[in-house]
This record gives sequence, C-alpha cells and structure tokens, in this order.
Amino acid sequence: MPVVPPQKSKKKKPTVPLPAPRNLRTALGGPSFFGNLITTILIFLVLMSVYSLVESFIQPTNEIPLSTVAADVAAGKINSITVNGDGLNIVFTDKSTATSRKDVAAGLPETLATYGVTPAELSKVSLTVQGQSGFQFWFITLAPILIPLLFFVFLFWFLSRQVKGAGMQAFSFGQSKARITDPADSSQRVTFADIAGAREAKEELLEIVDFLKNPKKFLDIGARIPKGIILMGAPGTGKTLLARAVAGEAGVPFFSISGSEFVEMFVGVGASRVRDLFQLAKKAAPAIIFVDEIDAVGRVRGAGVGGGNDEREQTLNQILVEMDGFEPAEKVVVMAATNRPDVLDPALLRPGRFDRRVTIDLPDRRDREEILNIHARQKPLGPDVVLSVIAERTPGFSGAELYSLMNEGAILAARENRKEITQYDLIRSIEKVMLGPERKSHLLSKKEKELTAYHEAGHALVSSVLTYADPVHKISIISRGRAAGYTLKLPFEDKKMQSRKQFFDDIAATLGGYVAEEMLFDDVTTGPSNDLAVITALARSMVARFGMSEKLGPIAFGERQLGNEPYSEQVASQIDAEVTRIIVEAKERAKKVISEHRNALDAIAKELIEKETVERSEFEKILIANGILPKKREEEDASIVPPAGDIV
Ligand code: ADP
Ligand code: ZN
Ligand code: MG
Repeated sequence: MPVVPPQKSKKKKPTVPLPAPRNLRTALGGPSFFGNLITTILIFLVLMSVYSLVESFIQPTNEIPLSTVAADVAAGKINSITVNGDGLNIVFTDKSTATSRKDVAAGLPETLATYGVTPAELSKVSLTVQGQSGFQFWFITLAPILIPLLFFVFLFWFLSRQVKGAGMQAFSFGQSKARITDPADSSQRVTFADIAGAREAKEELLEIVDFLKNPKKFLDIGARIPKGIILMGAPGTGKTLLARAVAGEAGVPFFSISGSEFVEMFVGVGASRVRDLFQLAKKAAPAIIFVDEIDAVGRVRGAGVGGGNDEREQTLNQILVEMDGFEPAEKVVVMAATNRPDVLDPALLRPGRFDRRVTIDLPDRRDREEILNIHARQKPLGPDVVLSVIAERTPGFSGAELYSLMNEGAILAARENRKEITQYDLIRSIEKVMLGPERKSHLLSKKEKELTAYHEAGHALVSSVLTYADPVHKISIISRGRAAGYTLKLPFEDKKMQSRKQFFDDIAATLGGYVAEEMLFDDVTTGPSNDLAVITALARSMVARFGMSEKLGPIAFGERQLGNEPYSEQVASQIDAEVTRIIVEAKERAKKVISEHRNALDAIAKELIEKETVERSEFEKILIANGILPKKREEEDASIVPPAGDIV
C-alpha cells in the first residue's frame, strides 16, 4: 500500500522488515552454541570412558608384590618375565599369569638381587625387556595429566570461538577489537579505481593519501595535515569503501572499528579500547584509524532524557583526548563516517579534531552507470545488456543498492541455469532491490484484494493528474516486503532539489490511497499507516526545516527535544497547526481528483483486480480512455522495456 515517490524510495525502505531471526539469534547467543555445548559434553564423556579403559588395561587385576615375585623366582615357579617400563608381566610354570611393578630406574636383576635372588636362580627364568618404553612409557605416565589438560584447552578454545561467533566480547575485554587491513594483503586492497563517482570526495582525499605516502615533504615545510576527516553521506554511498581506498592508495595499515560496537559494552571498556586502538596505530604509523558510524558514540552529549549513556560519553571523550594528544608529527590520520551529521556533538567538529568534512552524494546517472560497470566486472553480461538504461531507471539508488542489483541479476540468471545475465534480469532486480522479493504466497481475500486495488489506483490516479507528481510506471497488488501492493513512480530525471509544489503534489498522491479507501468503503484500514507516517514527516520537514510554510516564513526551526528547545512551546504548536493544514489541504485535493475521475479510478482498480500488475503502457491506455493525458518524457525512447521506478 505504500506510495513511494522517487527520491524517497530510501525512506520507504523501513517497510522491508528487518531480518528478525538474525537479531534474535545474536541476542540468544545462537542455538548452535547450545548444540555445540552438548557435543562438547559428549566428547568429554567419551574421553573419560576411553581413559578409564586405558587405565584398566594398564592395571590388570592380578597384581602381586615384588617380594612375592622374588620368592617365586627363587622357588623356580616362574617361567618368564616381560619387563615393560616399570611393569612386569609374569608367566608361571603352570601357565597362570600375574603382573607386578618395579622401580623404573633400577634393572630387574638388580632389584631381584636385593630380595636375595641369586644369578643362578634368575637364569632359569626367561627375561624379556620390551623396547617400547619411549612412547608408551611417556604416554602412560603423562596421560593422567595430559588428557584432562588437553580437554580443557580444547574446551576453552571451543568456547571462545563460540562466544565470538555469538557476538559477545567477554573474552576480548579491553583490547581493541579493531579489524586491521594489512597494506600488503592485495586480496583486501581497495583503491580509488574501485569507486565510481564521488569525484570531489576523492580529490579531497588525495591530499591525505599524498601525506601518508610522503609525510616528510609536508612536515618539512611546516604544513599541518588534518588529523580528522569525517565522511558524510547517505547509507551505502561508499563511505567505508572510500576510507579503505585511502589506505589502499597510500599503502598504509587500516585500523577500523565501528561506533556501534561501543554502545552495548560495559562502562570503561569502550574508552580503554579506544586507547589501545590509538596506541596500536601509532606504533604502525603511518596509518589510518577509521571509526565507522561515529554518530553512535558521537551524539550531542547531555541531550536526551536520563543523562544519556555513560559509556558512550566516556568513549567519545577518549577519542577526543587521543586526538588532542597527537603530536604534529604523528603520522596517523583518523577518519570517521556518519550518515547523521546533524546529530554529531559539536566538540567532535572543532579545529584539531574532525575539522575536515567530506560529503558524499548519492550517485547521479553517470555515476550510477560507472558503479554498475564496476560491479559488472566479474559477471558475464548478455549482448542485450545496456547498463545506461539501468542507470537511468534507478534514480536515488546508492552504490550499495546498485551493487545488490547486479548481484540479484546474477542470482536470477543462475537460478534459471543461464551463463549470462540479461537485461531483463537486471530490470527485474531493480524492483527486487527497491521492494524486497514478491510474496506470491500472501493471499488476499476478495475484499482485501478490492481494497488494495482501489488504494493503489487512488495513488496512481492522483499522481497522474497532479502536475508536479511523478509519473506512474507500474502498479501492483502483489505484496512485496510488508506492503500489500505498490505503485511505482519514477521521476523523469534525477532530482537534487525538490520544490514546494512537488512536495504538495507528492503528499496528495500519497494520500490518494487513503482517500480512495475512505470514499469507496466509507471506512479506513490500517493499510495506509505507513503512507501517513511518510507524509507527516514530510509535511513537518517542509515547515520546520525547509521554510516552506508561508505563515511561519523561511525559518529552519530544527528539532525540539527535551533539554534542547530552540523555540517556544507556542511556536511548536504553530508548527503543528501548519503541518495539519498542509495535510488537510492535500487530502482535499486528492478527494477532488478522485471524485472528478471516478470512472478512471474504477477502471484502474478493475484492471488491477483482474491482472494484479499493470504496466505503464496499459495504465496510460486506461488514462487516455478516461480523458486524462499521460505525462510524457522528452526524447522518450520507445525501445526501452517497460520501466521500473518508484513506489507509492
Ligand atoms: P557506506 O559505508 O557509505 O554505508 P559502503 O562503503 O559500505 O557504504 O558501501 C557498500 C558497498 O556498496 C561497497 O562495498 C560497494 O560494493 C558498493 N558501493 C558503494 N558506493 C560505491 C561506489 N561509489 N562505487 C562502487 N561501489 C560502491
Ligand atoms: Zn499506499
Ligand atoms: Mg559504512
């Protein structure tokens, strides 16, 4: 049911549910952990029984004292004695057997002599000394110590492996858990050639590469090189990749750690880890320290209810202390990445800390094509693949999404046992990446199907009639991710900026689903709840961030939180009133469109109920039949396969 406007496909993402099982498993320490524990206990039991078997083997029942042996030798009752280390196997003349023990150091004749056995008496007995002693002797002597010891070593190793796997850190207290990438390891090496687009960012970072490669040149001339560089950009734009590439280009070790790893730790551990990490890096200098997701520790301190998180503050303080303590000649550069620069503590951004900021934008059309090309390197593409077309259809996609698009394409081809990826595979993958896989098994009842069809038809119709809304590319009532149905919209070009008029039309189109439900069924469902969350957030941003309310004027009010109140209660309620007004007006406009074009709405819904998915060409035929002129793209290429686009 979501209405996804082009650029906002990102925000829609939350509709795709988080893979709960994974989180759960991590939280519980994993079922395999307990499974393995049982295995361990079983192994232990087996070892125990083997050991006692060996024991009983070494000590057969009939053991007699040495004095008895001596007496029996003297009496001529013994036929032969086999010496086995300190053990004696005795065979009597009547064929019965017994064992005995002697002192390991002394020979048997000497030992018997001390019991008064004469050489003549002894010569009647056949003596064999088994050459074994070496291994068997040591095994027998050491086994009682070694077997339990080995067992404990094994158990410990096993547990620590499990514990790490389960994401716990109990065994690596205090030490830095940084992952280190060695510059000599070419399999892990990333260079700027692996990153498409991000031209400005690369240019900025070249300076850092230069410094790390040849610090002397800079230090001799008295240049101060930035200690801290912060990379800012939406998730998946390649921040982590860029940081690794700087290390790769400069050929220096790369120490990376993620801010989110600190959050769930015990107080004090985070700070000591930071200390260790900086120490390690200084030893390896020139080097790069990379703190990923720094917003997890670097949020504005002292905000938030309850005084915030002690651990986070201590960790952050330690990072600042370490950075302040750098000598000018220290050849360590600290890089950090965040997708929430707005929440960062200003202390982090002060001169001498992260004073260099590099912004990475979502890739534009040309960049997207380049990124696709990079990820197509190892993949056999069919002759019909035109990556520029894919790039054109994926506005708002991040590098990471383009990467998974290529990957999904390869999976589709492999599933159908083809050796090459076709254009159609890639086209299908666009939707898959955007919406999650189709859920064909999710069956709608007749009533639900009708409701979903009208809901989506409402989005599509309002989008098509309002001037500034994006054109519809596809409508479907096959559920995907958590959405029961979806309307895909695709803008004609990449939008870097959006205008007030576009926002107004977007909000109306998003409300189209709600309004259609209400008008037709005289009732509303929980279906549009996500639509409503999106437009409410958008309307609030229009008023409080973009200054798009005529009543309140061009002021960026920012966010009001407890302990951080940049404006009064009164202004807050004015903002709320404006948000309400925008949404109510948009609803009226959606209502007007739908009642004026009721025939078109019915026709679209009917087609959806019948076919479940309506592509752009069929959709436009319905519009024309009902007197609505479809939106046209300039220099449109008719040869293009039905496009995929944005979701409403
Ligand atoms: P971020 O750290 O910004 O969330 P990542 O650096 O983790 O993003 O990017 C994830 C993946 O997306 C990378 O490993 C890479 O495969 C792909 N990617 C992202 N941006 C680009 C780019 N500009 N060029 C090539 N691949 C990219
Ligand atoms: Zn919807
Ligand atoms: Mg990252």
